[in-house]
Amino acid sequence: DRLRPDATTDMVCGYCSTGCSLRVHLKDGEAVNLTPTTEYPVNLGMACPKGWEALNVLDADDRATRPLLRGADGGLKHVSWDKALRTFCERFKAIGEQYGPESVAFLSTGQMVTEELALLGALTKFGMGIVHGDGNTRQCMATAATAYKQSFGFDAPPFTYQDFEESDVIVLVGSNLCVAHPIMWERVCRNPHNPEIIVVDPRRTETAMAATTHLAIKPKSDLAFFYALANILCREGWVDRGYIDAHTSDFDEFASFVQQYTPQRAADESGVPVETIEQVARKIHEGERVSFWWTMGVNQNYEGVRIAQSLINLALMTGNIGRPGTGANSVTGQCNAMGSRMFSNTTGLYAGRDFLDPEHRREVADILDLPIENIPAENSWPYHQIIDGIESGAIKGLWVVCTNTSHSWIHQTEARELLGKLDFLVVQDMYHSTETAQQADLVLPAAGWGEKEGTFINSERRLGVVKRVRRPPGEALPDFSIFRLVAEYWGCGDLFRRWSTPEATLEILKDLSRGRPCDISAIGDYATIDHAGGVQWPCTDSPEVLDQQRRLFEDGRYYHEDGRARFLFEDSRGMPEPPDDDYPFLLITGRGAASQWHTQTRTGKSEVLKKLYPKNVYVEMNPADAAAAGLESYDKAVVWSRRGELIATVFVTPTVQPGQLFIPMHYEATNRLTLPHFDPYSHQPSYKDCAVAVAPA
Ligand code: SF4
Repeated sequence: DRLRPDATTDMVCGYCSTGCSLRVHLKDGEAVNLTPTTEYPVNLGMACPKGWEALNVLDADDRATRPLLRGADGGLKHVSWDKALRTFCERFKAIGEQYGPESVAFLSTGQMVTEELALLGALTKFGMGIVHGDGNTRQCMATAATAYKQSFGFDAPPFTYQDFEESDVIVLVGSNLCVAHPIMWERVCRNPHNPEIIVVDPRRTETAMAATTHLAIKPKSDLAFFYALANILCREGWVDRGYIDAHTSDFDEFASFVQQYTPQRAADESGVPVETIEQVARKIHEGERVSFWWTMGVNQNYEGVRIAQSLINLALMTGNIGRPGTGANSVTGQCNAMGSRMFSNTTGLYAGRDFLDPEHRREVADILDLPIENIPAENSWPYHQIIDGIESGAIKGLWVVCTNTSHSWIHQTEARELLGKLDFLVVQDMYHSTETAQQADLVLPAAGWGEKEGTFINSERRLGVVKRVRRPPGEALPDFSIFRLVAEYWGCGDLFRRWSTPEATLEILKDLSRGRPCDISAIGDYATIDHAGGVQWPCTDSPEVLDQQRRLFEDGRYYHEDGRARFLFEDSRGMPEPPDDDYPFLLITGRGAASQWHTQTRTGKSEVLKKLYPKNVYVEMNPADAAAAGLESYDKAVVWSRRGELIATVFVTPTVQPGQLFIPMHYEATNRLTLPHFDPYSHQPSYKDCAVAVAPA
């Protein structure tokens, strides 16, 4: 009876962007168990292993339970919150006074609730005078956000998950949905139309194995491949001229541009035979409801924005957008990447506004009742420029909130060295054991999912509610409370009186969003959102009268001033570090299993999840390459790049093509190898291409 629940409550999961609802079983108001919520429109009673284990990772021994301050002997020692907050303010203010206000920066996350992201953005930029701040969404979603903004006039993923079930042709690009978004894949499996499932991915992933067609294109041949499809569609007249003329601009330039991308050229560059490319174009033409989906294989790419737009172009030119089962659809990574994109106030001003636009600054100042001078008139540096700023000496103080830079940043060795050069590094996290926290001068203990309240926004733009169903351990506090305390200690608390609770902050976000494409002004309170089964933006009517599944652009009107979507295109720049005689393999990194998440900061704490995934780093290798190198499965191999090396267990499998290696991103060592290069428009790191060598260890 001790654990027999006496009540339940529903809340959205805190891992991936699917945004499943979990029914938490309570005993005396505290969570004792959970099951997936059966009535929620996202997951329909399903959850992946991470969701099922979401409560168990809260009990880990390495939870940060008290503030820790590095002492004269170099060790981290417990201190009071008062001492921690005084030190935080004294050190950052001293750095600002000595080197200027731009010398302190912050890095946050797509995993805090929207209200916390919004308060952090306001506190740092409007209260503390910080200019430069970015989030780990730069590592996953910046490409999609930039592509949408340029093509549609706003960062607006157009779809609803129902589209997975209504398409008759589903094109998945650089997306191992089975593993990375397993509940979305379940939605594909529920599709009653016997759809064509076309997977474009260099690896024969679990999703590729389940597809009707797998196109194992050579890495980074995406542009040639998708432009050739556009070429064939134009050549055959398989375009929706009515839609193009009514709702888009620059199509004729695009049609002329893709003439050079012949099927033969695409075949030469991608390795896919001409006949297959022609067949795929025909399938897109014959589909009545064609949807294009992409994830990190596109986004984490040095030309990701243009690749995403090559898919957007295919949807626009065939009129496959704004109708059920269609769309150019970016599947987000983290549970609140969308919240970060809309409301974090980092590289963009709230609700898709621009720091450089005086009108936008005026609007925000008026809504928040702030002096306009408090709003920076310059854009923040993106993540990699902040890291570069440490190297150049421009950044001397850094506040890292809920992310693990020392593990996850591209070319990790350099990132670690640079963090070590800071005058003052503060890490705010649930766990004191992350690689980044271990480097910190000050660790602030934060509550986790289930220990605080707020909202997440999932991939289909749906706000869902997170609740407090556990007490945070020790003296750990919700990030929201920590930000409010920082405001008081910094001396700018008066600016944020209205931001008294997460729910009061939602009211502010409603005001900030009013009249913007992501308008949530009529969304109601947490209880209303909960009762509605989550609510998608835009929401300008009561959720009670809105459909539960809504997609954008049903009227063909986009967010550019002329209401038209743009065709955007560009030639490939070519791989910056192609394999050569010394480094003959191309390394691809990515998600390894549905049971693991990012740097394993949380999932590594679950005994169940650990059993579902190899403990030590492994490398997948094609049988022909393994034989040539004298390697067999379970042998140890050394893999090295121009930047570092690791020892991995070999897994011989034909799922990787000859000349390629795959290592999951979850292991601490993976990013020793990766090459720091970035998409020029989105500044997203390109994690999936660097030259490496391999040999028996
Ligand atoms: Fe959570 Fe994503 Fe798994 Fe759903 S699919 S339970 S949101 S991790």
